[in-house]
Amino acid sequence: MSINRRTFIKNTSLVLGYSLLPYANFYANSNQKQLGVCLVGLGNYSSTVLAPALQITKHCKLTGIVTGSPWKIPRWQKRYNIPDQNVYSYNTMHQIANNPDIDVIYIVVPTGLHAKYAIRAANAGKHVWCEKPMAKTETECQSIIDACNKNKVKLSIGYRMQHELNTRTIIGWAASKPYGNIKTLRAEIGYNVTNPARTWRLDSELGGGTMYDLGVYALNASRYTTGEEPISVSAKQMTTRPKLFTETDETTHFTLTFPSGTVAYGKTSVGKSMHELYVDCENGWYTLAPFSMYAGVQGKASDGTLLNIPVRSQQALQMDDDSLSILNNTPVMVPGIEGMKDIRIVEAIYEAAKLGKEIKL
Ligand code: NDP
Repeated sequence: MSINRRTFIKNTSLVLGYSLLPYANFYANSNQKQLGVCLVGLGNYSSTVLAPALQITKHCKLTGIVTGSPWKIPRWQKRYNIPDQNVYSYNTMHQIANNPDIDVIYIVVPTGLHAKYAIRAANAGKHVWCEKPMAKTETECQSIIDACNKNKVKLSIGYRMQHELNTRTIIGWAASKPYGNIKTLRAEIGYNVTNPARTWRLDSELGGGTMYDLGVYALNASRYTTGEEPISVSAKQMTTRPKLFTETDETTHFTLTFPSGTVAYGKTSVGKSMHELYVDCENGWYTLAPFSMYAGVQGKASDGTLLNIPVRSQQALQMDDDSLSILNNTPVMVPGIEGMKDIRIVEAIYEAAKLGKEIKL
């Protein structure tokens, strides 16, 4: 029954778009509980995107918060009706173990702190959702996976694009190859940030860096579009603002080669706006542009096929998909190993740029 319900929701979403799902809501709530989600780190993404998305999810809802900023607490409690007993600091978050209102702990802190708090969440015996990029190093990623396995909890990485419906069409084409084998692809993501704030994103220790923050979208897209794992990587990094980007990359270009011979060209920058995935195949081409923004992902193919399914909230889709995996005890769509594969390549990209030579993976 639950599998059928999920299929129903997916198929309905494909036709109507996520916003038009009154029946899904009815079925979802008729006999299945909504999971309680606790957000860890009440920064920009939690405040402006995840908490609002948790007001429209069908299978989970916001029930708790972890913050190191006491001044944020009254506003969050009032806006989202969060009781005192569901409010934690980083030092008390292990006590979530005893809180039946919280089923999932969602890590939304700077990347360099993901491993520390994801492991703490797993040790509290709660399911873990961890934002992208999964962590700074492959070793940290493995330690998160190990902690989740040891505590028998599920782990999902917050790659929202893999839940987005037009992107799912492209992911399906990796296997069905409607335009033949892929010869090359371009994946470019960037924003022209004219005056970057001096936050953790410029701090290498805390996991800053454009390749980590944005470049993983281009990298992940290269992998899900081909359905292959790269065998070698070369890269170069550059900056137009050396006084600002002293520790982290402003712009990274990378080239991946895949076992089939496909070559992927990736670009990421916080000095230039770009948002396109373009796939050149033996018998045609297809593109998504933008391919990674929160909304409006759309594209087309050389034969006129349009990729334009409306999606109200990628994050709501993501969190509902991940909730259903927990409720139905089925595999998650984006497991820890998926995040770790990217971080292994990200580390190689930084190394290749530093050494100025190709690295075999
Ligand atoms: P912000 O800087 O806006 O917020 C981070 C929050 O983490 C802070 O507000 C703070 O919350 C908490 N925090 C704990 N320790 C520290 C520390 N030492 N320094 C700074 N903050 C700390 O970042 P974002 O919300 O933009 O990003 C958070 C995570 O979400 C990152 O991993 C990022 O990659 C990811 N992200 C994912 C997106 C997606 O589309 N999937 C989009 C944007 C971000 P508090 O004060 O409550 O303790």
